Amino acid sequence: MKDDNFLREMNARHIWHPMGHPGEQQSNAPKIIKGAEGVEIVDIDGHRTVDAVGGLWCTNLGYSNDAIKQAISDQLWELPYYSAFAGTSNPPAIEASYAVQEFFAEDGMTRVFFTSGGSDAVDTALRMARQYHRLRGEHTRTKFISLKKGYHGTHWGGASVNGNNRFRITYEPLLPGCYHLPSPYTYRNPFDETDPVKLAEKIAAAFVDEVEFQDPSTIAAFIMEPIQGAGGVIVPDASFMKHMREICDRYGILLISDEVICGFGRTGDWTGARHWGVKPDMMTVAKGITSAYFPVGGVLVGDKVADVFESAGSDGAIWTGYTYSAHPVGAAAVVACLSETLRLDTKTNAASRGAQLFEGVQKLMEKYDIIGDVRGGHGLMTGIELVSDQSSKTPMDMDTIKRVHQATYEAGAMVRIGGNNLLMSPPLIITEAEIDRVLTALDTGFAAA
Ligand code: PMP
Repeated sequence: MKDDNFLREMNARHIWHPMGHPGEQQSNAPKIIKGAEGVEIVDIDGHRTVDAVGGLWCTNLGYSNDAIKQAISDQLWELPYYSAFAGTSNPPAIEASYAVQEFFAEDGMTRVFFTSGGSDAVDTALRMARQYHRLRGEHTRTKFISLKKGYHGTHWGGASVNGNNRFRITYEPLLPGCYHLPSPYTYRNPFDETDPVKLAEKIAAAFVDEVEFQDPSTIAAFIMEPIQGAGGVIVPDASFMKHMREICDRYGILLISDEVICGFGRTGDWTGARHWGVKPDMMTVAKGITSAYFPVGGVLVGDKVADVFESAGSDGAIWTGYTYSAHPVGAAAVVACLSETLRLDTKTNAASRGAQLFEGVQKLMEKYDIIGDVRGGHGLMTGIELVSDQSSKTPMDMDTIKRVHQATYEAGAMVRIGGNNLLMSPPLIITEAEIDRVLTALDTGFAAA
C-alpha cells in the first residue's frame, strides 16, 4: 500500500468523485476509508467511527459477513463471469432469481430482471412500463408521474422522474413527459399542511388533477419511494401509498415502488410497500440485495405485467440489458445475502433500533435550536433537518452543517449531509450500544455548531 500522503495527493489529482466538485479536490478532501469491521469504518488516520450511513444506505449486514464473502470468493473460482443475455444463463443467477421471488412473494413479485445497480433498475422499469402499455395496444401511454424530493438514480430516466432539481438542471433537457407532485413532506409543502393525513389527501387530489389534465390515456406509470430517502427521509402518512395505488388502479397507471433503499428490511418490514400495505406492479431494488458486497440491482415484476410480456408475440422481447445483468458473482452474493438477511431477521432489529435512534434524536431536538425537524420512526432511516431559525425554517448554512458533520465524525459517527439534512441509515445489524454511540456523537456534533 502506498503511503498516506501519496493516497491523498493522487486522490486530489486523479479521481473525480460522484456528486463532488472536481475543482475542490484539495480544499474539500474526502475521508479515505481503508478498512471496516462489523458496523464500523476506519480511515487512513486510524480513526474509527460507527458507520451511521451504512455506506450509502446499503451495507445492511455490515462489513463482516463471512457467508457473503465466502460465496463471492467461491463463485470467483467456479465461474467469474458469463453473460445472461438471451441464449445463456448461469446457476447462481437462477438460484438468485428463485431466492428473490421467494423473498418478495408476499408483494406479488414473481419475475426478476437483474441490473448492475439502482439507476439501471429504475431506467429499465420505466422502459418496461412503456412496453407493457404498447403490448396492450395503448401506444399513447408514455408519460411518467413521480414525487418532488424523490430520488431515483441518475440515468436519464431516473433523473427525469427525480424530484430534486440539483440532479436535473445541469443535464437538461431530460426525458419529455415527466411530471412531479408535491412530496408528502409535512415540514414544508405548498399547501402549508402540517397534518400528514390531510397532506396525503391533498397530494392524492393533485395526482388525480394532473392525470386528468394530462389525459389518463397518456400516463404509463407512477414511481415513488415508500419512504423518501435521499430527499431527506420523508415519511408519508400510512394512507399515502394506498391513495396512490387506488388512483393508479382507477386510471390504468402502473405503480412502481422504488425499493432501492426501503427494500430488504430497512423500514422495519421486508419492503417499504409491504410496510404500507400496498402491492405495487413493479419494484426496483439494489443496495440491500447484496448488502453492497457486489453491485447488483433488479426490476421485480408481478404477474399482471409479466403475463402481458410473456403472452405477447415478438414485440414482448426486452431490448435492454447490461453486460453485468445476472453476473454470476453478483448472483452468488444475492443468494448468500438474502439467506443471511432472513437468518438474522434484520427487519425486526431495524424496527427496534430505528425506534431507539428516532427517540434519541427527538430528545436532541429539545436541546438544540438548530434542529428544525426530525423524521423517521419507521425502521433505520432517520433525517434531521437543520435550520438557522426555527420559526422561519430558514435552512442552516452549509459551513455550520459541515462543522456539525465533522465534529460528529470526530466524536465517533459517520452521518451523511443531504441538503440541509443529516441523514442516517446504519447497517440493520446495529446494536443498542452502537446506536447510543451514534447519539452521543451527534450530541457532540450539535454542540460544535
Ligand atoms: N433509487 C433510489 C430510491 C435510491 O436511493 C438510489 C440510490 N441512492 C437509486 C435509485 C440509484 O441507485 P444506484 O446509485 O445504485 O444507481
